[in-house]
Amino acid sequence: DEFVHRLPKIELHAHLNGSIRRSTLCELAAARGIDAAAAMLDSPTPQTLSEAFDVFRVIHACVTTLEDIERLAYELALDLDDDGVVYAEIRTTPRALPASLAAQNAGTLDEYVEAVLRGFARYDSKQEGDKAGLRLILSIDRAKHTASDAEAIVDLALRFQTRGVVGMDLSGDPTKGEWAAFEPALQRARLHGLKITLHAGEVRGRDDEMAAMLAFHPDRFGHCCFVSAPNLALLKQSGVPIELCLTSNLLSNSTPSLERHHFRDHYTHVDSHAEQEERTVCCISTDDSGVFNSPLSNEFRLVMQTFALDEEQAFHLARRTLQATFLTPSAHNSTNEAMNQLMRKDD
Ligand code: 5GP
Repeated sequence: DEFVHRLPKIELHAHLNGSIRRSTLCELAAARGIDAAAAMLDSPTPQTLSEAFDVFRVIHACVTTLEDIERLAYELALDLDDDGVVYAEIRTTPRALPASLAAQNAGTLDEYVEAVLRGFARYDSKQEGDKAGLRLILSIDRAKHTASDAEAIVDLALRFQTRGVVGMDLSGDPTKGEWAAFEPALQRARLHGLKITLHAGEVRGRDDEMAAMLAFHPDRFGHCCFVSAPNLALLKQSGVPIELCLTSNLLSNSTPSLERHHFRDHYTHVDSHAEQEERTVCCISTDDSGVFNSPLSNEFRLVMQTFALDEEQAFHLARRTLQATFLTPSAHNSTNEAMNQLMRKDD
């Protein structure tokens, strides 16, 4: 068994629909008579961020029922577990879907969240032994949602706060929508104890937005590919952890090469005996493992190969991600212990 597979990993940036199994997408597409999916699978990797958004349109045209959502959540939990993930925060954008293909009416956003949680519960009940811990983050889509939609999603998250929803995300097509429209809803979410992660710096020329997001001081940032020098200095000072998705950024042309990925701007090797807390916490993540065809173990393999990390450094990188989760401190300790035990098993 390979090191990157055995390595206990934490996944903090995975979009549910973007993490769909290719086999499941093919099956749902066939059942719904959709050809675009077959075409997408023939030329599987998007070349730009906007092509990636075309792929999400295809996926959403295939994933049309609450049954499908439950299946995606269940299969993603299994796949994460198989890949050696010990804890994951999955994010998804709630949408109104019918219960099944035969159903006449779309359900509510609450039913969407219930469907995801049923998928997780199915995994929990089937799996034996150590199970991956799973939490949910609800996404606001900056391109599709209005300020009042965002408020409704915050309310939704608050209704499920005791059942595994730990935070809010802002995602969707970064060329659309204004940060200012969503900030009030996210401020309110934060006041009620939800954690916040923001997609940021995904396209060039949004330095003012990045500055405003830095002033908001979220609990994590996603991507941060295009950040001006002054904002980069502020980002490093802020101590806000960043979710880094190498394959996603490479395939959507947000980095010219793996070697030049901004991981290198943020990562510093850890001396295992002296933890230095001032470095940025880098959370290696998949983004959309179905779309980009790369599980988290592969992302760690790429990081290790590209930036010459040895096994101990990779372990520290993976474990350091724990500091960036939206878990309470007591839950932190048990996940940390689980990671240590898994590593000891190998010694
Ligand atoms: P869902 O939220 O439907 O489970 O997952 C797919 C959605 O996640 C997409 O429609 C999009 O809004 C969001 N998403 C997935 N990957 C990315 C990404 O790389 N950047 C941004 N901004 N949004 C993404």
